[in-house]
Amino acid sequence: MWDELVGQRQVADYLAAAVRRGVVSHAYLFVGPTGAGKKSAARALACAILCDDEACGACATCKRVRRGSHPDVRVVTPEGAATYMVEQIREIIHDVNLSPVEADRKIYIIEGADTFNEGSANAFLKTLEEPPDDVVIVLLATTLEAVVPTIVSRCQVLRFRRMAPEQAVRLLMEHTGAQDTEALAALAATGGVLPRAREFLNSPPRREARERMLATLKDLDVLDEHDVLVAARTLLAAVKAPLDEIKATQAEEVLEHKEFLGAKGTKALEERHKRQLTAREREGLSEVLNIAESWLRDCLVLSQDAGDLVANHDVADAMEEIAAVITPAAATRALAAVKEARRRVSYNVSPQLAVEAMLFDIQEVLRCPR
Ligand SMILES: [Zn+2]
Repeated sequence: MWDELVGQRQVADYLAAAVRRGVVSHAYLFVGPTGAGKKSAARALACAILCDDEACGACATCKRVRRGSHPDVRVVTPEGAATYMVEQIREIIHDVNLSPVEADRKIYIIEGADTFNEGSANAFLKTLEEPPDDVVIVLLATTLEAVVPTIVSRCQVLRFRRMAPEQAVRLLMEHTGAQDTEALAALAATGGVLPRAREFLNSPPRREARERMLATLKDLDVLDEHDVLVAARTLLAAVKAPLDEIKATQAEEVLEHKEFLGAKGTKALEERHKRQLTAREREGLSEVLNIAESWLRDCLVLSQDAGDLVANHDVADAMEEIAAVITPAAATRALAAVKEARRRVSYNVSPQLAVEAMLFDIQEVLRCPR
């Protein structure tokens, strides 16, 4: 598992040594931009703590941590629109104080540590300062400045740097056998997050969703209103398609552990699966928005002969046509429409409505690209 953190050699060595020497801190704060490998590092740390063979990556424990199905490794994301609600923090605290299910330690990976407000931070401070002996808490945040200082002061802070794009492309090619253009497109779709880009390349339904988004953008200027609504619906169906694969794996897992877990444990597992599905659907939606964004950026790059690498090389011809007529101001308006869709989705507007509105806005720009 450590070997996968290629871009973060120092952090990986540091954490591996801490586990080996038995001096793992009870609370870490991993800080760095999206795609820098914070979550992978947190999972690798969890493996190193739980695995009998120093995060070998191959044993049942490591595999389950990697899949997100180990009951003693909890990944927590804010349930509020833009923050942790005190209610959710209380649930986490309650859970922290329960004994591990299988292992002798529990690891909490808490995403969006920069979204704690004063209230939720205060509710969490005591737990963060003195969690039970068998608990390790890893908080993830994009910038240190955005994290409430009382939280920062109770954690050991580790900084992550974003990997250079060329390095990310190279790694992805090595690990998946993909071409450089495919690797670039996968990174653009997944916001530069390496493990997700790798999953993306290995998932035909997710690549299919990308094709759908690109096909919609290509024809958008000639679609009538009804067509746009249908296109949005088809796109969202494509976003949901990869969930079938996950549902099948989850059903297997339930079947496998049912007897051992009992009725209550099985219910908890099913709840966790439901949350995983919701998170995955949100990720899929964010992926198609990333793709729309990168396509518009590519058009802008091509329109200015900027010489930068385009992310969606496979549709360069269609983009060239738009690049020939679009102005930077118009491209910026279209990019703002994608940003607005992202905002709406984060505020729980229905994905269908958010995507429809975005497509209509982009259509307006494409029809009048000045
Ligand atoms: Zn292992």
